[in-house]
Amino acid sequence: MPDDTPGSSNPSDENEAEYQSLDFIRAKVEADNEAGAYGGRVQTRFPPEPNGFLHIGHAKSIYLNFGIADEYGGSCFLRFDDTNPETEDISYVAAIEEDLAWLGVKPSGPARFASDYFEQIYEWAESLIERGLAYVDDQDAETISEQRGGFGQPGIESPNRDQPAEEALGLFRQMRDGVFDDGSRVLRARIDMQADNMWLRDPVLYRIRRVPHHRTDDRWVIYPTYDWAHGQSDAIEGTTHSLCTLEFVDHRALYDWCLEQLELPHEKPNQNEFARLNITHTVLSKRVLRALVEGGHVGGWDDAQMPTIRGMRRRGYPASAIRAFVDRIGVAKTNSTVEVELLESFVRTELNASALRRMAVLKPLKLVITNWPDGQVVMVDAINNPEDSEAGTRQVPFTGELWIEQDDFMLDPPKKYFRLTPGREVRLRAGFFVTATEAITDDDGNVVEVRCTYDPETQGGQAPDGRKVKATMHWVSADHAVDATVHLYDRLFADSHPGADGADPLESLNPEAKESVSAKLEPALADVEPGQVVQFERLGYFAADLDDPKVFHRTVGLRDEWANIQKRKKN
Ligand code: ATP
Ligand code: MG
Repeated sequence: MPDDTPGSSNPSDENEAEYQSLDFIRAKVEADNEAGAYGGRVQTRFPPEPNGFLHIGHAKSIYLNFGIADEYGGSCFLRFDDTNPETEDISYVAAIEEDLAWLGVKPSGPARFASDYFEQIYEWAESLIERGLAYVDDQDAETISEQRGGFGQPGIESPNRDQPAEEALGLFRQMRDGVFDDGSRVLRARIDMQADNMWLRDPVLYRIRRVPHHRTDDRWVIYPTYDWAHGQSDAIEGTTHSLCTLEFVDHRALYDWCLEQLELPHEKPNQNEFARLNITHTVLSKRVLRALVEGGHVGGWDDAQMPTIRGMRRRGYPASAIRAFVDRIGVAKTNSTVEVELLESFVRTELNASALRRMAVLKPLKLVITNWPDGQVVMVDAINNPEDSEAGTRQVPFTGELWIEQDDFMLDPPKKYFRLTPGREVRLRAGFFVTATEAITDDDGNVVEVRCTYDPETQGGQAPDGRKVKATMHWVSADHAVDATVHLYDRLFADSHPGADGADPLESLNPEAKESVSAKLEPALADVEPGQVVQFERLGYFAADLDDPKVFHRTVGLRDEWANIQKRKKN
């Protein structure tokens, strides 16, 4: 009977609402748990190939896999999918583990490696052969590929397809024992050369490649393909939900076929696909990221302009902001592209709460106070973070020779320019009111120095007579300034969808992506920790470099561009 008592809610509706608020993967996990699948066990894994550094797309997969394990009391392994020795390297293994730790996730137990399972995976291949489910093909790769046909086009069966099991087994063992040349033979599953799904048209399971492997060295000269190693590794580990990105949808039938042929140590895992993360003005493909590094377009995988975890870390993105962003975008079944401004707004929100405020002048112009007592230094009190009452204040030296921003002075200003100009009074943050009296120019008419007077009654930035000024500017005492190099970043790719429609993403690299300036910093900035992010007042958030304390990276500006985008969308 429907419950229509005012004020009371129907409990089943409530459950329904909660259920619907789950993303489709979590809903699937819950449905499986309710149906008693896997005895209620939930086990996921994050399976990177150790052939490059992690990027923020991987972070989406990481927080999804580790998040689900966490939420359902399960476990999540870090498993290196290391079946492709040509491109893989041990150095990436350590880097990936470090990045995971920095992201704040902890794998269940030590890292696993697909290569640890090579023996079992090999034995399973033999068992397929014994049952007539796989054969050794000596046709070349091109022929095999041509014979696969295409959708609506018939496949052509290999002349080796009906090889007797015994012969196939002998050949496969010879492949393993190094009797044949690289690329001269493959092991293929014998499934269905007319299947609508191309992946089921007798896919390759093993190739011969004499390439030393970062863990098994030269023990193997044959290597399993992704499709013959991935599901098997899942099954060996006891994965329940194998989460991957949408490009593997078509592989799912093969994933299932392979596992259905085998005696598994655990209940068969199931593959679920979700949309990759794409971000505007950004490329999330290791291939392209490698091209950026190798082409010298950036300083390395950990360059602050890179969308890698290391790059973002150097840039000053807090891991918590990356996580909040990933949580907000959620998981979906269709590909889409998220605006980079949304990511930046999460970074800004985190930093606004946590970053200390400091003063730094990026494009310095000398300001000389003509009525300042010779040699006087006044320590003024400046607030460390207005968002955090516990952050307190600091003392900043104020003297008669200061640096201000070139932009903050104009000889001949347009209307609505409220900053310094001859005859105008402004406030120097936490310091005094000053009035410009004179500008000194070089032969080309560029202002090289500004002279002003100050009002000694305005210390702390208030006039006793209550008079107002329209601008407050930041400054640094010239005698006390700390020199630093500051890197200012714009979008690395000028195009919002670099590489769309098959274009080369490198064609749309922004030639003005990086500008480096020699800045003047207030003395407290000599003491920041490597990687610490501070707000340079009026300018944005800046991260001290991880290696060089005299270098800062602009993490993100102060303006909330995401809010502007939202407003534009509404109008
Ligand atoms: P790339 O295309 O950049 O080389 P990949 O998929 O080959 O990436 P892997 O090391 O195989 O990189 O990826 C490990 C895991 O991270 C996989 O499960 C993969 O699906 C996931 N992943 C990679 N890129 C993204 C992305 N952009 N969004 C979400 N998940 C991703
Ligand atoms: Mg991959």
